[in-house]
Amino acid sequence: MPHHDHDSSLRHRLGRTIRTPIGVTALTACLLVALVAVLGPVLLGDRAAQVDTDAINQGSSAAHLLGTDQLGRDIAARVVVATRLTLRLTLMAAVIGVGGGLLLGVAPAVVGRRLGRLITATVGVLVAFPGLLFLLFLATIFGVGSTGAVFAVGLAMVPPMARLVQNLTASIAGSDYVAAARILGVGRFRMVVRHLLPNIAEPSVLFATQATGGILVAFSGLSFLGLGVQPPQYDWGRLLNEQLNRIFVNPAAALAPGAAVVLTGLMFGLVGEVLAQAGGRRAPQAPETTPQEELGTPPEPAVEHDGGALVRARDLRVTFPGGRQAVRGISLDIGAGEAVGLVGESGSGKSLSALALADLVPHPGRVSAAALGFDGHDLRADPRLGTELAMVFQDPMASLNPALRVGRQLAEVAEVHLGASRAEATARAVDRLDAVRIATPGRRARQRPHEYSGGMRQRAVIAMGLMGKPKLIIADEPTTALDVAVQREVLDLLAEVREESGAALLLISHDLAVVAQVCERVLVMYAGLVVENLPVTELLGGAAHPYTRALVGAVPTMTTDRGTELATIPGRPPEPGETGAGCPFAARCERVRERCHEDTPELTALGPGRQVACWYPVGTAAGRPVAATAHTAKATS
Ligand code: SF4
Repeated sequence: MPHHDHDSSLRHRLGRTIRTPIGVTALTACLLVALVAVLGPVLLGDRAAQVDTDAINQGSSAAHLLGTDQLGRDIAARVVVATRLTLRLTLMAAVIGVGGGLLLGVAPAVVGRRLGRLITATVGVLVAFPGLLFLLFLATIFGVGSTGAVFAVGLAMVPPMARLVQNLTASIAGSDYVAAARILGVGRFRMVVRHLLPNIAEPSVLFATQATGGILVAFSGLSFLGLGVQPPQYDWGRLLNEQLNRIFVNPAAALAPGAAVVLTGLMFGLVGEVLAQAGGRRAPQAPETTPQEELGTPPEPAVEHDGGALVRARDLRVTFPGGRQAVRGISLDIGAGEAVGLVGESGSGKSLSALALADLVPHPGRVSAAALGFDGHDLRADPRLGTELAMVFQDPMASLNPALRVGRQLAEVAEVHLGASRAEATARAVDRLDAVRIATPGRRARQRPHEYSGGMRQRAVIAMGLMGKPKLIIADEPTTALDVAVQREVLDLLAEVREESGAALLLISHDLAVVAQVCERVLVMYAGLVVENLPVTELLGGAAHPYTRALVGAVPTMTTDRGTELATIPGRPPEPGETGAGCPFAARCERVRERCHEDTPELTALGPGRQVACWYPVGTAAGRPVAATAHTAKATS
């Protein structure tokens, strides 16, 4: 991992790209055009304005390189002098286009959902409208003249720019670090300035540069049509308009302003190309695969909890359009300081259940619950948990804002949420990095996420969660994207952090070995339902649900030698919406009987601290009574 920071790395890449032939050409063209724009009117202004009635409509000669116009003025001098006005008007229109595009593009992320949708739809309609017609329509509205043309051309650039920014913003708004900032209650304006704009700056600048070339051509087109710059002012489009009727008599006079437009337009394109090459980012690394680890000895409970639930959910559901339910009414309690594992295959609803607790279910999913409480506070009325909840996601790179120094990101948590001063917050950030065993934390705090290794990033995310005093840490597949060697370190760290902070832990994983290493209790999810709730000590030999048994059997190091063939669960879990009456596991279950197809088993007590949703649990001789005695996945320890 390179140890230079993001800015110097961009400067380095820019410097390298400028030394390529395309870079040299773009830089030379820029300097030349800027020089002509600055010096042209100073040196040739008088000559360009000088009327000579003795030399009207002349062809090219030694005295007049491109000939003269109908008032005997030197056309070459006029083309040079027109550079400044042409560029000024082009850049003004670009500022309007870029500014308007940014505002409209970011707006849906800032305003309410309904207004946001309206803005997105309006931009969509405007983008679909043919650009040339839109431009002419605006030019007619704003009227003839350079001011009107600047607005017309600038506004015509707003929809495509807004669309680009909307797309970029939407992708960033869905990232984990924005989700984390939302949990912390970071204000919308701050979110835009700190998290959105820095991360869309690069592609936006590239687009704006290349679009400026288009603006130059469009503006010249309006002037050429007589809708733009009016005499006595003149830009390249206006000169083209004046000389086109003499193209067969003096072609050079008509071609010169046209060539100036094309070449300068190309220059903008080249500059955009150079920036694009310099800004080209490396593709993110694919996550490593996770081999199964040995089941560790389950740790002792870190904190004695009194049975009072920190998290209490009843009939929690996550519904998507069309009525498809990905989480179908689960109930769970997590005690203060308790470590609970939530396991299941992908698509079982385990991650969505956790996201529902944190009010982070992605749009258009809807969360409903008969009760949803956190430490006595009703999350349905106010879902914000502030620093009482720490989230650790699968991909630590996505959880950190790549544009900000790690220490600053951590410090912001304390500044925004705990009202700490900048110095206090920075000191705490360094202290927290130290607490998650990041060596030389002072130096590391000044680095950006790309300078960290994967394991260090995940530590930094955990440190961010520790900036406050979390009562619950939700860790969603926290080790899946990490190198095998650092997986255990991160798990140990989570266990340690939990012990020191007294926070409860909800660990979501498809990997039973990981859960067994850290948790005290396991909830097994299948097809949007909790199908078993058991102490982790029972997992290996005492699981009662055939699905839990099958999951345990699929972990090679739990019940088999490494050499033996891996057990797999035949079939696939039902998709949301595919489930009807009967047990959702029936199609894959070895113990299935007639009743399983007809009645849905509910989560029912099966001894102390045990619950199972199965008519014929493993280890029991016969069928169970129909009446459910409990619906809550709560350890009764
Ligand atoms: S209820 Fe029937 S089908 Fe479902 S898990 Fe139990 S035995 Fe298998």
